[in-house]
Amino acid sequence: MNKKNLLDRFLRYARIDTQSQEDVESYPSTAKQLDLSRLLLKELKALGVKAAKIDKNGYLVATIPSNLPKTDDAFGKVPILGFVAHVDTSPEVSGAGVKPQVIAYKGGDIPLPGDTTVVIKASENPGLKDNIGKDIVTSDGTTLLGADDKAGVAVIMSLAERLLSDPKIAHGDIKLAFTPDEEVGGGTKFFNIKAFGAQYAYTVDGDKAGELNKETFSADTAVVTVTGRDIHPGSAKDIMINAARVACEIVARTPKGMAPETSEGYQPYMHPYVIEGGVGQAVVKILFRDFKTEGLVALRKRLEDIVADVQALFPKAKIAIKVTESYRNMGPILEKTPLVLETLWEAATRAGVAPSWVPIRGGTDGSRLTEMGLPTPNFWTGGRNFHGKTEWLSIEDMGKSLEAAVHLVQIWVEKSRQ
Ligand SMILES: [Zn+2]
Repeated sequence: MNKKNLLDRFLRYARIDTQSQEDVESYPSTAKQLDLSRLLLKELKALGVKAAKIDKNGYLVATIPSNLPKTDDAFGKVPILGFVAHVDTSPEVSGAGVKPQVIAYKGGDIPLPGDTTVVIKASENPGLKDNIGKDIVTSDGTTLLGADDKAGVAVIMSLAERLLSDPKIAHGDIKLAFTPDEEVGGGTKFFNIKAFGAQYAYTVDGDKAGELNKETFSADTAVVTVTGRDIHPGSAKDIMINAARVACEIVARTPKGMAPETSEGYQPYMHPYVIEGGVGQAVVKILFRDFKTEGLVALRKRLEDIVADVQALFPKAKIAIKVTESYRNMGPILEKTPLVLETLWEAATRAGVAPSWVPIRGGTDGSRLTEMGLPTPNFWTGGRNFHGKTEWLSIEDMGKSLEAAVHLVQIWVEKSRQ
């Protein structure tokens, strides 16, 4: 396995600014994401991939044709597999001018050179100790690193290179997709699964080596709009209705024991993540998250009760709630196609890591793809601390991700021969 090549790919991709942006009408939300997609297209062509293009919505899709001879028992039987990663990085932290640092990790905290107040703490990163004596990658502390998901992009590109250069690796038709706008919830907005043509797919967008994901949250977003009445404070008595005060009252009443910062594992949460406005109008955006889709109904009811109570305190304010669906837990659908899960488990085992199914407290492109009819679990890239300046990447784990992907395509061929 050419690890140097994989790392070079990652570093090359990480330096390109591909930050996506919230609340933008255009698609993709930022044109610069395609800078990376265009580079990937060029690299795929150079590798000899003929069927590769960027479609009108900015999806880079490519096909690596099967190398099975007609005499192979799996010929015509092995399912078409897809590998999916997203090119964008989180809008939360700048992705401009990323300076990746390759560090020989010797243990302890890691102050980052561009801003020494940004420290990757050993106490907050139990995964660091597995990397003592090994190389890891960080940013310089002024930006995120973008291992989410350029590590996944690098793994898939290296997989393509391996499949095209090593005829000993038997595989069926393989489809690759690089999507924009995953971080702003739009990764699959215009994705055409029919045109993609895969029967099963895998997102490469996870965490630590061995961690496999078949369950995500089910997610809705509530927008609470408070309309008040603005007037000069000097003559406001009995007339002014302060929407900002009403909005704060609503946020103050959201359950503190059911928040992202106080919950873990399979626990649900209600997360007021945006509050903005003033006297005349204020808006609160709230995330509902639960692994059980029916749990979202209870979260919504809870918010409605809070709003009813606050409305009674401020009878003249107008308060409206609008809830929209974000994505659904892919677990119940994936369980119906157990082979897509068993093959992934086997691939991790053959790559020499101990696999485990870990619920994702978030969503992936796979949540939507699975719902649309393309079963798509997720596996690790080696990246950690996503969406922050303390993001880091275990080079060893990224290498294991590539090894697992190479095993995975072969396991499907083996299974199809039976
Ligand atoms: Zn991601």
